Amino acid sequence: MGVDDKCPICQEGVETVMHALRDCLWVRSIWRHLGVLPSDQIFWRADLQVWLVYNGNAKLNGTTGSMPWKMLFPFALWNLWKSRNGSVFRGKNPNPDLAKEVVSQVREFLYCASSPRDLARRTIKGVR
Ligand SMILES: [Zn+2]
Repeated sequence: MGVDDKCPICQEGVETVMHALRDCLWVRSIWRHLGVLPSDQIFWRADLQVWLVYNGNAKLNGTTGSMPWKMLFPFALWNLWKSRNGSVFRGKNPNPDLAKEVVSQVREFLYCASSPRDLARRTIKGVR
């Protein structure tokens, strides 16, 4: 019994990790919406390990203003993975607005991380 190794979403490439997270046609459009330029050779050509290290440490901002790329990148990876699995295993259509959703999640995370609850208002009560 043969196993089809083509990408079930675009039908144009072998379904590798890099295809699923970077090279699939649908995924490419999401990265472009997040501000990755087509001319960014490191982004589009690096192997998996270099790609992860490069983007995880990048001090670049996306097209979204003050959002650091090292925040957008992992949120994008997670959302791409979840959306892809939803498409492949549950038959859902890939979300065309995923880039907006990623930006929204990063914005929410940054808001929560930068304005923690007021610790001075906490009271400690002993319980028995
Ligand atoms: Zn594909």
